[in-house]
Amino acid sequence: MFQINENYLQLGESYLFSTIARKVEQFSASHPGVDIIRLGIGDVTLPISPVVISALHRSVDEMGVKEHFRGYGPEQGYAFLREAIAEIDFQKRGIGISPAEIFVSDGSKSDTGNIGDILGEGNVVAITDPVYPVYLDTTLMRIGKTDKIRLLCCSEENGFLPELPQERVDIVYLCYPNNPTGTVMTREQLTWWVDWALENESLILFDAAYEAFIRDESIPRSIYEIEGARGCAIEFRSFSKSAGFTGLRCSYTVVPHELRVATANGVEVSLHHLWNRRQSTKFNGTPYVIQRAAEAVYSPQGQQEMQAMIDSYMQNAALIRQGLSESGFTFFGGEHSPYIWLKCPDGLDSWQFFDRLLEVCHVVGTPGAGFGSSGEGYFRLTAFNNAERTAEAIGRIAQLSSTR
Ligand code: PLP
Repeated sequence: MFQINENYLQLGESYLFSTIARKVEQFSASHPGVDIIRLGIGDVTLPISPVVISALHRSVDEMGVKEHFRGYGPEQGYAFLREAIAEIDFQKRGIGISPAEIFVSDGSKSDTGNIGDILGEGNVVAITDPVYPVYLDTTLMRIGKTDKIRLLCCSEENGFLPELPQERVDIVYLCYPNNPTGTVMTREQLTWWVDWALENESLILFDAAYEAFIRDESIPRSIYEIEGARGCAIEFRSFSKSAGFTGLRCSYTVVPHELRVATANGVEVSLHHLWNRRQSTKFNGTPYVIQRAAEAVYSPQGQQEMQAMIDSYMQNAALIRQGLSESGFTFFGGEHSPYIWLKCPDGLDSWQFFDRLLEVCHVVGTPGAGFGSSGEGYFRLTAFNNAERTAEAIGRIAQLSSTR
């Protein structure tokens, strides 16, 4: 009989968002007409910006004209987009990344999940807890539940930033600004990690999906701002949250040419070469029209429109922070991130707090326990609703705390 990949059987069921949906549905059914505000969603709500929409229309029209029609494109992405990315996201910021080191893709979820294809099964892999679940689940799918997975506990004591591993770790997933905790790493902290990786010949998988939300130039937006990172890190970036592409699907991954590793028999291999091989074998490229849309984000108007969207979300984050602070909550994040991570009050666990918030305030958030056991006792709010609804939700939460 054929066999399956039994590692899949070791995955925890992903009940988080289905449980939230069920609870909200049940509450709505028993409380008809109640106005529920959602601050749990990790999806954007603002529409795609005008310059991007124009680029989409233009490129869709091209596809209907014989001379302009495009079939399969380069698996790594069209040069026009790779060049715009290299110039605006890196070179203009003084970071030496070339277009050839950029691989355009259809989402950071795919790339952070697929990167394991080019990594050996014997690696010890470190993953923060709490965490964006894709890193852990895709590692489990690949190597199963083994002692090769190390969870790096992120807690209030360490400011929700992982400590450098004391034992051997070959690969570490880092995500800053972080989902779910909203925390960021300073240049100094990220330098510790890069130095650690270089010294230990380890690889950092750096997810910068939320870099556009950083408000302070002193905080690194790319790991390649740190000296030596080209020799130890792969970086993942996404247009999803920065330019509202969650439904369009476009992202990119940077694999520097310096990233090399020796095989067991001493042959030096380039990770860029391996990822190129993987992508050109298993991926046929991001649609042309989507890449034209992403290119428009780099036009002067596109940059302005993107910034306006981010500013609007960050004003919501500021509203949430101010409201929580006035109500006496302990919380993290929300300064350089659309996520605010609050400590559940009164010793409630994260699902109990979810229930209280839903029942008393009619506000929906995300229980921290859904992001790993170290998330228990915490709760994630997001800045992706609109200003009016966010202010209303925070007002209701303030009333909850005044009646405690
Ligand atoms: N990385 C992190 C940390 C995320 O939170 C998300 C989406 O929520 C992604 C990656 C996925 O991004 P994409 O829409 O590009 O697949």
